[in-house]
Amino acid sequence: MEKQDIKSLNLQQLTEAIATFSMPKFRAKQIYQWLHIQLVGSFDEMTNLSKKDRELLEKHFYITCLTPVEVLTSKIDGTKKYLFALKDGNIIESVLMRYKHGNSVCISSQVGCRMGCRFCASTLDGLERNLTASEMLDQIYRIQKETGERVSNVVVMGSGEPLDNYENLVQFIHLISNKDGLCISQRNITVSTCGIVPNIKKLADENLSITLALSLHAPNNEVRQGLMPIAKKYELSEVLSACQYYFEKTGRRITFEYSLVKDVNDNIEEAKALIQLISGMNCHVNLIPVNPIKERDFVQSNKENIEKFKKLLEKNKINVTIRREMGRDIDGACGQLRKRYLESSLNSKDAF
Ligand code: SAH
Repeated sequence: MEKQDIKSLNLQQLTEAIATFSMPKFRAKQIYQWLHIQLVGSFDEMTNLSKKDRELLEKHFYITCLTPVEVLTSKIDGTKKYLFALKDGNIIESVLMRYKHGNSVCISSQVGCRMGCRFCASTLDGLERNLTASEMLDQIYRIQKETGERVSNVVVMGSGEPLDNYENLVQFIHLISNKDGLCISQRNITVSTCGIVPNIKKLADENLSITLALSLHAPNNEVRQGLMPIAKKYELSEVLSACQYYFEKTGRRITFEYSLVKDVNDNIEEAKALIQLISGMNCHVNLIPVNPIKERDFVQSNKENIEKFKKLLEKNKINVTIRREMGRDIDGACGQLRKRYLESSLNSKDAF
């Protein structure tokens, strides 16, 4: 019999699972709290359970526990980047950012990605596999345990497309915000998507209060299609009406992410078109100076253009911020650290 992933189960599923081998139901909550509050990595640490119960759990379940293989700390702002090894040897990356308002962790939702956005390092080798709910959770658990500091915010903006791993993402959100776990407020969770329309609508209907961030990156279909293959499948008008639906259902203001690429989407013309497109929507625009990756020749917009772009949006009463670059000295954007690690370990293997 194959062992079950215990950390991906919610309390009710766990209660049902242990009932099948006659363990008393009230044990479920104790076990759940060991996993999701004490963040233990083994059944032996569950000291208020009998040895027999621990052996039973060991027989039926495994505990997902990621292994850090590299941790880099920024000398500029204390940001920490983690490379974790999964049970099957795959490598993923997560980032801890320290802000005045609390600690925020950026997690990956897939190993690799199949969305193909032109400027993104995570997608260069395609999708390897989806992460389980427990693998998403454990990125946060290991970081909280290692630093001894509470994580209060989560952004699903690392490698992968969260809405391409829909069921596990929703399970993850329920588990991380559960009162018998780390109880991170759903209002402090942001999920970023390239714009998979049917799943944005589905997410709107889940009765969650998380923030949706939409990777917009262009004010028209033509430029967007040049940057993001998914834009060929879903027209901008469809994507925006799905966002509007999300706002109507949840009351949560949408964040639009706009990565500025020199001479591609950073002209005043594009800023004007963007204003036309989103004026009147309850939204916030996050401008991200593109982080160039060596495999592509995209160039970051210069400071002056970024400021001009921002000012025009502000003048037209659109909430806008420029994303602060965190951990600039420790391998920039999504997927770059993992990619560098995989390449260097491949090279060192070649040497033998
Ligand atoms: N799949 C999700 C999460 C991706 S990462 C999505 O598409 O939204 C979070 C954000 O960073 C996205 O807006 C993504 O388009 C952007 N991004 C990825 N690589 C980048 C880079 N090199 N420079 C700037 N932004 C980048």
